[in-house]
Amino acid sequence: MTNQQKETITQMRSMGHSYTKIATLLGTSENTVKSFCRRNNLSGVGMVIANQAPGILCRQCGVLLTHTAGAKQKRFCSVKCRMTWWNAHPEALNRKALYPFTCAHCGAACESYGNKNRKYCSRACYGKSKAAP
Ligand SMILES: [Zn+2]
Ligand SMILES: [Zn+2]
Repeated sequence: MTNQQKETITQMRSMGHSYTKIATLLGTSENTVKSFCRRNNLSGVGMVIANQAPGILCRQCGVLLTHTAGAKQKRFCSVKCRMTWWNAHPEALNRKALYPFTCAHCGAACESYGNKNRKYCSRACYGKSKAAP
């Protein structure tokens, strides 16, 4: 097994992936992955995660978050992960900026995220309206 493979196994196990999945990804046998995990104290990771409530993994990197009793459940392991996630999901941030509108071409009732000046439900309608005299 290469160092790269060992690193991948360690990382994937810490994210809670199964032996089967890791083995498939690395093109190695499940037993190889299993015995490596046993030797390196990684065998219990998936079990731990299976018993946890959903949403306890970092939404960005999938790392297991520690939950302090009584405290608000964190969704990210770090500020960096939080920033990365929000950058990748701007629509989640703009959930309140939802503007209902009627398509100026086909009349369909639509909702626009973040853009209150949107007129068409789709690019197709936009194109057709431009083509029309
Ligand atoms: Zn993270
Ligand atoms: Zn339309």
